[in-house]
Amino acid sequence: MAARHLIIGAGTAGLNCIRTIREEDGGASEITLVTAERPYSRMVLPYYLDRSIAESHVFTATAATLATWKVKTHIGRKAASLNPQANALTLDDGTTLEYDDCLIATGSRAVKAPVPGADSPGVHSFWTLDQARAVIAGIAPGSHVVMVGAGFIAFTILNSILSLGARLTIVEIAPRILPRMVDDKGAALVEAWLKKHGVKILTGVALTKIDDARGKKRLRFKKVGDLLADLVIMATGIKPNLEWLQGSGIRMNHGILVDDHLRSSVPNVYAAGDVAEGKDGVTGAPVVHAIEPTAMEHGRVIGANMAGRDVAYRGSLNMNIVEVLKLDVASFGAWDASGAEAFTGLHPERSAYRKLCWSGDRLTGAIIIGQAGDVWTTNDVGMLKGLVQTGVRLGAWKEHLRRNPFDVKPAFIASRTTARLLPETTLGRPSRAPELPTTVTR
Ligand SMILES: Cc1cc2nc3c(=O)[nH]c(=O)nc-3n(C[C@H](O)[C@H](O)[C@H](O)COP(=O)(O)OP(=O)(O)OC[C@H]3O[C@@H](n4cnc5c(N)ncnc54)[C@H](O)[C@@H]3O)c2cc1C
Repeated sequence: MAARHLIIGAGTAGLNCIRTIREEDGGASEITLVTAERPYSRMVLPYYLDRSIAESHVFTATAATLATWKVKTHIGRKAASLNPQANALTLDDGTTLEYDDCLIATGSRAVKAPVPGADSPGVHSFWTLDQARAVIAGIAPGSHVVMVGAGFIAFTILNSILSLGARLTIVEIAPRILPRMVDDKGAALVEAWLKKHGVKILTGVALTKIDDARGKKRLRFKKVGDLLADLVIMATGIKPNLEWLQGSGIRMNHGILVDDHLRSSVPNVYAAGDVAEGKDGVTGAPVVHAIEPTAMEHGRVIGANMAGRDVAYRGSLNMNIVEVLKLDVASFGAWDASGAEAFTGLHPERSAYRKLCWSGDRLTGAIIIGQAGDVWTTNDVGMLKGLVQTGVRLGAWKEHLRRNPFDVKPAFIASRTTARLLPETTLGRPSRAPELPTTVTR
């Protein structure tokens, strides 16, 4: 009997898993997909917001593609409970689906700051396609948008909001912007850059309430004066979609705990992407990395294992890269490890900053900030990522980087990091399109 694979969630992790199963088995197994939303990419929503792409371009697999890949679908249905003893999933309409193995890839959802008025009209999250549609409908040229929260997701939509002709104020409860992505010096540089380009920023301010004020929203704070906004976007964090697994017996911490093959505490139940708590490739610690590359790699590794290969996962890389008003801001690995040896370099006149963190002569974390067109930045973002990801020993090049943290290229070339990265494809082989029999109906 053909193996029955059940995939729950059609985001980056779920779709990469399906695609990889089909790359490996050419259509031999049964795949069933259950997903609350049609498959689309959240990461491209900022480009939909500023109209760089049409809504049709956010979708990652159409019904026709899924049919070509021989996937049975339950689209618009939610997983409601899992019974791993019976290998059965129950959906929100009472349907029960049996499986031989199953992937949980239900992603995360946006969480608003818990203040009165947070759920009133005009106060948005920006995480799903529906939420993006609502923000698009609410912004017009000249609108005053207040963004609550200055983390990575807020920064991914900042260019789009400004390009729509809106005025932007960012408020952040922490003493600095991007508190989980860069350090104090880096944050100060980015803040100065944004202010120079007309963005208002208030840090260390606690929002207490949002009131309606004659067609506008009035934001009230503990210590500073009110702000009036046409539209409020709360980018105040995300939470993995795990509640439906209560009572399943699957072991969970911040996410579903997974082993080096991304199996949960129940061996035929895998977890991937934003819901999975797996190994950090640099520190070895269990961690949730709610980012696209982790979801993609998890999905591919699990797909190969479901198709019968034995592929271990090396661990995910903490990585955030964002460009705001032509300033590149990126951090990799353990950039904030307390007690780690670190070199920094700052060139304010070039808006350039580096922090390089070490364990012995290996680079374990890095922050890089610089203008997008500056040769220092263009070349070095990828090279620093490679050095952290491979953990290559840099020997005497460490001293070179201490003297000049902006001269990464010679160390990158001398350490033959490219040669180490090339064979490191997730599955140990080049990616290829699934080859399926042509008799499949569309
Ligand atoms: C605006 C924005 C910009 C971003 N930019 C970047 C970026 O630049 N770089 C980066 O690395 N990351 C970025 N991210 C984060 C990235 O999109 C996520 O980390 C990634 O989508 C996670 O993939 P996933 O498959 O785990 O979950 P998701 O892509 O969220 O998919 C989850 C799927 O599960 C479904 N689902 C949820 N609950 C249920 C249920 N009970 N039953 C059935 N189905 C369910 C959902 O409908 C969805 O199909 C961005 C996110 C947003 C919102």
